[in-house]
Amino acid sequence: MNINKDMKHTSKNTYLELPGILYTKQMPTPVKEPEMIIFNEDLSKSLGLNKTINESNATSVLVGNTILEDSIPISQSYAGHQFGHFTILGDGRAILISEHITPDLERIDIQLKGSGETPYSRRGDGRATLSSMLREYIISEAMASLHIKTTRSLAVVSTGEQVIREQIQSGAVLTRISKGHIRVGTFQFAALKDTETIKALADYTFKRFYPEIDSTNPYITLLDKVVDAQAELIAKWQQIGFIHGVMNTDNMSIAGETIDYGPCAFMDTYHPNTVFSSIDQQGRYSYKNQPLIAQWNLARFAETLIPLLHDDQNKAIKIAESSIEHFTELYETYWLNGMRKKIGLFTNESSDRILIEELLDHMAKEKLDFTNTFIDLMTPNYRSPLKTIDEWLLKWHDRLNKQAESFEESMTLMRSVNPYVIPRNHQVELALKDAVMGDMSAFTRLLEVLKSPFEHKLNHKQYTLPPEPSKEVYKTYCGT
Ligand code: AMP
Ligand code: MG
Repeated sequence: MNINKDMKHTSKNTYLELPGILYTKQMPTPVKEPEMIIFNEDLSKSLGLNKTINESNATSVLVGNTILEDSIPISQSYAGHQFGHFTILGDGRAILISEHITPDLERIDIQLKGSGETPYSRRGDGRATLSSMLREYIISEAMASLHIKTTRSLAVVSTGEQVIREQIQSGAVLTRISKGHIRVGTFQFAALKDTETIKALADYTFKRFYPEIDSTNPYITLLDKVVDAQAELIAKWQQIGFIHGVMNTDNMSIAGETIDYGPCAFMDTYHPNTVFSSIDQQGRYSYKNQPLIAQWNLARFAETLIPLLHDDQNKAIKIAESSIEHFTELYETYWLNGMRKKIGLFTNESSDRILIEELLDHMAKEKLDFTNTFIDLMTPNYRSPLKTIDEWLLKWHDRLNKQAESFEESMTLMRSVNPYVIPRNHQVELALKDAVMGDMSAFTRLLEVLKSPFEHKLNHKQYTLPPEPSKEVYKTYCGT
């Protein structure tokens, strides 16, 4: 139950209770010819949105032409370290049109992305391309089905207007659902103002995300909770081969959700140095760096809370440091436990880490597909064509035999955590190519397949195939 008694349940937008510097009231810019491209019926029902947003108003509301009754749309202020450089940002093309209470009494944000200029637009046009919004839609929904915390996608509505990027493209608005669009960068922005603003934001965030916790120092608890949530999230990304691509502090959510899908991608061939983002030339946000960057971002978050952690600044710094240092241990534990499951281990042994690392080293050396290697291991009597793995397989079987659980039980465990299908970039790109030409069939088919990623269905086999070398995607673009 994620709702707090102190928050006005009826209020459409509790964010307005915060100091005015943290947001700007902002109406979406209307468009002439909106068309619903895709609507997430299941999500709408599960969130209890179907009463508010229905067939008669969905297109208009979700493109920003109609504002929901009693709602005061806002754009949020934030700052952020982008590739390590501090910048003032804010929702340059996003508008929070309303909050909503779900049937589980959880408060969520309904945000339009690509809905026109805001005071934070800087040189941008406030718009988004159909292709990039559909990409965010399909990858975020795939992440949810993979049991990874993420913002969700409710709809994509095309605007009928063109947006100018490298080429002229169709414009669209994505409706994004989140537990709350509060970022590390939101705290960085508040910290620029004064302690009162930081305190108001921290109080709000704590009440909104952790209403059930009664803490003597909610700020320490908040920091510890966010550190824990991120350790868990990043461990999950690593276990599934997901590379976010732009882990700037403005793209790190305090609610612990994966947010802001830009040049992200899933790895096909495993290599720890993999980078996809065309703008990440130094490899700052490579696969292997993700945990380190998360910890760096969290340190920026902790710094903003220092005035609240303790009256004595030195003690406050110590508290912050110890919480951030704890990330390493939390992450390692989440990672190791998750990886154990990926190879069917129910118990903990000190040598497990080495066993797992040997497998990963082998995968990197032999350029194996990240996802399919774990699928192969689930094949009974699997014998790799690569003799180099035989020795590892023997060690692994020895380790499995030491458990009380049967081999079949190990396989069941592995099946529950190792996806059969992931949104492979070459498939996503193919689907998007047709979608922007008006043919949504490949997109909807891929979306459907991605709803049951752990099921080994024969007719999903084609989606498990890695790209032919010529189709391999080495670079992804923000393509905004
Ligand atoms: P992102 O790379 O999507 O995380 O965006 C980084 C910042 O640039 C955020 O403040 C966005 O709101 C802003 N931004 C990105 N694209 C646009 C755009 N087309 N118009 C205005 N602002 C934008
Ligand atoms: Mg962003």
